[in-house]
Amino acid sequence: MKVIKIGGGCLKGRKNIARILDLIAERGIGNVVVVSALNGVTDDLIQGSRDALENEEKIPEIVAGLRKKHMRVARHVFQRESAVNPYARELDRMLREIERFYYGLNFTREITRRMLDMISSYGERFSAGLLTAALRSRHVEADCLMPHRIGMLTDGKYGDATADLRRTSKNLETHLLPLTGKKGVLFVPGFYGVSERGDITTFGRGGSDYSAAVLAAALKADVLEVWKDVAGYMSADPRLVRGARLIPSLSYDEAAELSYFGAKILHPRTVEPLRRARLQIVIKNTLNPDGPGSLIAPGKRKSSRIIKSVAHDTDIGILKVHASGVGARPGILGLVANRLTESGINIKSVVTSQTVISILLARGDVEDGRLALKELRPRPYRKLEKTGDVALVSLVGEGLGTGKGIAARCFTAVAERGVNVEMISFGPSRVALYFIVRTRDLRDAVCAIHEIFFPRE
Ligand code: ASP
Ligand code: MG
Repeated sequence: MKVIKIGGGCLKGRKNIARILDLIAERGIGNVVVVSALNGVTDDLIQGSRDALENEEKIPEIVAGLRKKHMRVARHVFQRESAVNPYARELDRMLREIERFYYGLNFTREITRRMLDMISSYGERFSAGLLTAALRSRHVEADCLMPHRIGMLTDGKYGDATADLRRTSKNLETHLLPLTGKKGVLFVPGFYGVSERGDITTFGRGGSDYSAAVLAAALKADVLEVWKDVAGYMSADPRLVRGARLIPSLSYDEAAELSYFGAKILHPRTVEPLRRARLQIVIKNTLNPDGPGSLIAPGKRKSSRIIKSVAHDTDIGILKVHASGVGARPGILGLVANRLTESGINIKSVVTSQTVISILLARGDVEDGRLALKELRPRPYRKLEKTGDVALVSLVGEGLGTGKGIAARCFTAVAERGVNVEMISFGPSRVALYFIVRTRDLRDAVCAIHEIFFPRE
């Protein structure tokens, strides 16, 4: 039995969705299919919360927009007219619930993390219901099982929950496993689970991958297939490097490193539950379902390549905290990190020397981060400095930690193009090396490295 995850990127446009349904009818029988929300719907739900908070008169419009998006698809993909009304009724029931939440947050004048998780979890419920009804309208048996009913248990952390694997496995063995391997397709909405107290908790943006991994591990599936609208992991972003190639196989660590920066093919924590179960992930392109895709598997993959990918991220800014004797002052890192976390700012990475702590943030967070640290009393630093206009390049490969001279080759190639390297982090991970360059130098840096490690065959 397989667990198949279908990404929101594929659930875009009526024709695409109709094609995905054909694929599911052909390959999904007897398997568990975890779905994302239709493309853009999670964003709509979250933006809807903000709009609803501001102005209660917007609520009917938000709800009508969600209805329209799903009904347009339903009318196109349902093969029997008679299936449309029952789906519309189910959709309307869920929309009435959301409507009440929206009015609730307008009335209480606050969006709590609990409420936001509750509201954003509906995108997956809509899409799973839609695909289930669509398959049934094609005379394919299908069922939809809600994560909060089958016992997908989480630690209760809103917006960034972790599944309780042991207890979830037990629950799924009772409520889901007996239904697998039969004639039908079993849909499960991704992205969220339920805490012990019964609260809906999401796994963070893009979290349906993680849901699917938890289900695959808990059900001891043969494989986790992740269906996407791209071929798989690439040696570089094809928009930047013309000769970029598909990476046929990766280790768990390589996939995890590449999930943070670069192509972001998977949710960063997807490999967590699978590592223990030693389960394989296959990335499949729905536009070319028989293509090889990328395989993520346990152990070090035998490969002649030391470097698997040179990825990059332009959503990066640096906040430098100048302080003397960073290494001799207990608690300074904690102080800075806590303050940022309290302000809801995520730290992407940290590189420090004795005089400067460099904190890598999303570009849009840098100014907020600076303001947050400015408030610290007593001031644990001498000066704060921010840098935008930078990009991060990351080299990922199992050979990095053991191969000799790789960093030297990388930086020689970059220097030969006249690119200045602003900052380097190498060592913490066996499989990754990061460095920062000016945005204008990004293409040159990535192409130079790609040429060295992926010479034309
Ligand atoms: N729908 C959620 C999101 O957009 C989860 C997912 O797509 O995996 O973040
Ligand atoms: Mg998504």
